[in-house]
Amino acid sequence: MKFNTKTIHGGQHPDPSTGAVMPPVYQTSTFAQKSPGVHTGYEYSRAANPTRTALEDALASIENGVRGLAFSSGLAATDCVMKLLKPGDQVIAMDDLYGGTYRMFTRIYQDFGINFHFVDMNDIDKFKSLINEKTKLVWVETPTNPLMKLADIEAIAKITKEKNILFAVDNTFATPYLQRPLDMGADIVMHSATKYLGGHSDVIAGALITKDEALGEKLHFSQFATGGTLGPQDSYLVLRGIKTLHLRMERHCENGEKVANFLSSHPKVKTVYYPGLESHPFHEIAKKQMQGGFGGMVSFTFESGKKEDAIKFLESVRVFTLAESLGGVESLANHPALMTHASIPEDKRKEIGITDDLVRLSVGVEDIEDLLEDIRQALG
Ligand SMILES: *Cc1c(COP(=O)(O)O)cnc(C)c1O
Repeated sequence: MKFNTKTIHGGQHPDPSTGAVMPPVYQTSTFAQKSPGVHTGYEYSRAANPTRTALEDALASIENGVRGLAFSSGLAATDCVMKLLKPGDQVIAMDDLYGGTYRMFTRIYQDFGINFHFVDMNDIDKFKSLINEKTKLVWVETPTNPLMKLADIEAIAKITKEKNILFAVDNTFATPYLQRPLDMGADIVMHSATKYLGGHSDVIAGALITKDEALGEKLHFSQFATGGTLGPQDSYLVLRGIKTLHLRMERHCENGEKVANFLSSHPKVKTVYYPGLESHPFHEIAKKQMQGGFGGMVSFTFESGKKEDAIKFLESVRVFTLAESLGGVESLANHPALMTHASIPEDKRKEIGITDDLVRLSVGVEDIEDLLEDIRQALG
């Protein structure tokens, strides 16, 4: 099955009792048993729920995995991976991460005795030098939020495989439409399904997908034992979102590229961060590991370098909405330093390049003329 068919049919079957084409929202906590321990495979919705199963099978299908798990948020999915670790274990993570991921690693799991190294994953020698017998997990986000840094998934997977280290990729920005990390050697794919998978800014959800059944089962046990599952109504919404993922991503990419090009030629704009631009430092890696486009996320800074200019722009947009989050059909604009990445200490932000004049756009699927006109007037 091709990707654009998998988004609609992958792992899906008409409901066995009625033939309903879309799975019913099984709004139930428990399931009747014929005799003690004799059941349909469903006992209690924390362990499994048929609507969630339909979503989990769709997730596994679109990421070319064997097991999908749906969580109450992206961070709950990440948290489930972290619970595979023990005190004393070490994690090597990319130095430009979603703010909430960084916060969880440094303010929750560090206190549990897990040690983190944050490193530029493109410095492969540095990365290799940090590996020792305590290294148990490598965590990468590519492209990153908000600076669109990329990590070479294949190159990292070669090393983690050799050293027997788990390798997880946060694939939220690219989605499996553009990039399939399991095919390139990663062990775990993580998603904030709140973003492009859900696609309509109406649900908070997370996902993990593995290509190894045993690892999938281990993660499922951890999820079952700790409880961060996605409810049936929200499972339904994400499943419905996935059915148009390929259509939306096509337009996100088209619009994203046009916005990036427009900004690149604007006199008030200094740097544009978009993996599709030839000037982007990671363009070659992007061409190698992303197919069909470069996504709808674009960040940029001002020629003036002034925070006030970024704020003025954000106060002036009319079609774009000033809000956190991304990946929905509507265009959003955000100030990472004051909003999504405020949880990263200021000196750390400066070090990685999240300056006060940085603006991040989630380019939606509206008419491109309206988007460009909005940016033009807001910059003016
Ligand atoms: C939003 C986001 C997360 C966290 O997901 P939630 O659904 O908000 O918990 C993790 N990684 C990336 C890249 C994100 O954009």
